[in-house]
Amino acid sequence: MKKRRYLQTVPGEVIGLRRPTLPARLLEALEESVGRAHAVVDPEICAQFETDWTGRFRGISAAVVRPGSTAEVAEVLSLCSAAGVPVVPQGGNTGLVGGGVPMGGEVVLSLRRLTYIGEVDDSTGQLTVGAGTTLGALQQHLAPLGLETTMDLASRDSATLGGMAATNAGGLQVLRNGSMRSNVTGIEVVLADGSVLSQLRGLPKDTSGYDIPSMVVGSEGTLAVITQVRLRVGPANDNRVVALLGTASLHDAERIASRLRNEMENLRSAEIMERTTLLLVAARHGLPALFGDDTPWVLLIELSGRQAAGVTTDQLSEELTFKVAAEAGRITDSAIGSGGTDLQRLWSYRELIPETLAALGTVRKLDVSIPPGGCPGFVSAARDLVGRIAPSARLHVFGHLLDGNLHLNLLGVSEKDGDGLDLSVLELAVSLGGSIGAEHGIGRAKSHLLHLVRSPEEIDLFRSVKRAFDPMSTLNPGVLIPS
Ligand SMILES: Cc1cc2nc3c(=O)[nH]c(=O)nc-3n(C[C@H](O)[C@H](O)[C@H](O)COP(=O)(O)OP(=O)(O)OC[C@H]3O[C@@H](n4cnc5c(N)ncnc54)[C@H](O)[C@@H]3O)c2cc1C
Repeated sequence: MKKRRYLQTVPGEVIGLRRPTLPARLLEALEESVGRAHAVVDPEICAQFETDWTGRFRGISAAVVRPGSTAEVAEVLSLCSAAGVPVVPQGGNTGLVGGGVPMGGEVVLSLRRLTYIGEVDDSTGQLTVGAGTTLGALQQHLAPLGLETTMDLASRDSATLGGMAATNAGGLQVLRNGSMRSNVTGIEVVLADGSVLSQLRGLPKDTSGYDIPSMVVGSEGTLAVITQVRLRVGPANDNRVVALLGTASLHDAERIASRLRNEMENLRSAEIMERTTLLLVAARHGLPALFGDDTPWVLLIELSGRQAAGVTTDQLSEELTFKVAAEAGRITDSAIGSGGTDLQRLWSYRELIPETLAALGTVRKLDVSIPPGGCPGFVSAARDLVGRIAPSARLHVFGHLLDGNLHLNLLGVSEKDGDGLDLSVLELAVSLGGSIGAEHGIGRAKSHLLHLVRSPEEIDLFRSVKRAFDPMSTLNPGVLIPS
């Protein structure tokens, strides 16, 4: 592997770091290919592409290049690859594992200008979008057509469909529609050498060999750069009802959620949160504080359905109220709402958690997958570990309960303690049969821990696949696959 031979370091504009400079001829060629305004070396402009959303991963780039078409992406990659220059693909930069920031002086390839939105094909319920289209922009585009995306995330206004495919994002509707891999039906990518592979037909059935879209989805920018994504969309669920259900234990919340899943076909989301976290959200955003001290856990349930299919809001409300009454012994308090403002207010307790915690300091985030029924045991053991390894740390747990996907957010942990803590908590998740990454990916944060869930044979196979796609290893070196 060629190791950043090209870099000529000069005193950098970022304190303590040295900004690499590209060979003048390469920079000129990049400017020619994407236009001078879109091949940027100005440190002030580059800065917004160099730090991740959490502020924990801060790098420095040789340049930020913003192509406006697949052809330009191909040209940029071909130029960088010929010069042995590593590239970090970047979408909305909302990733939480440091996979989209230039930690080794790479060129940042920002895909945000690829914002094409194609027509919906009524016969398949699919459409093709540019990789830089944000989820929120697609949702706004679909709403007047009576359609909606099958995926949803709190980061919708910045996260791009290309980034979501690259991370195999999950989110708030996995329960009903699966994660990104289940919703991508085709993909267009550019390989490191500039060749374009297009598989955008979206055939419902195709058994003609290896499935390139599913190989690239979840590869975190290490195999190819995604330029277009073909996606399933669905008819809008125009009637929605949300409930916040307080419980005395995580075990009770899990029992209620499982029962609702088994009994209610309109269940769309089941999110778990801690009341202590919600008090912080309420204080920061001027929302009413919820429930009493006897309620450490809050379960958010959403039911949704289509008017055209005969599902009304009244019917959903009645159904939910009936189920809540049936679970009265396990529910300490509740709030139910339907209709625009109420829905937004109840969801805001959940959706404002990441931003509220981020405002309190740098958050160390662990995203784990736990087998069904295992969440209460995991949380209690993880709390013990945090108390032992980093006693001054504050742990906030929330997540997608019925997916067994918990997000552990740690405040007040030093980088030194943090490494030991990550290892112990992730080992715990694996010992229970879970995984070290549920929906955020491995990125740079956890590549050194991949061996906890993947055998040496699997990691060797990952390396072989990577070599086949990207023989010079110029795409996102250091991400996902341990060096
Ligand atoms: C408030 C908040 C809430 C969130 N909620 C969720 C959630 O519920 N579920 C969830 O799964 N995630 C969630 N996330 C994480 C994040 O939004 C997702 O990982 C999202 O998929 C990242 O998209 P992005 O465009 O921001 O990608 P980036 O952060 O820019 O990149 C992420 C990774 O993908 C690669 N990449 C980006 N674009 C491309 C491309 N076009 N081609 C190849 N590789 C590419 C990058 O190199 C990097 O490795 C949340 C984040 C925040 C800040």
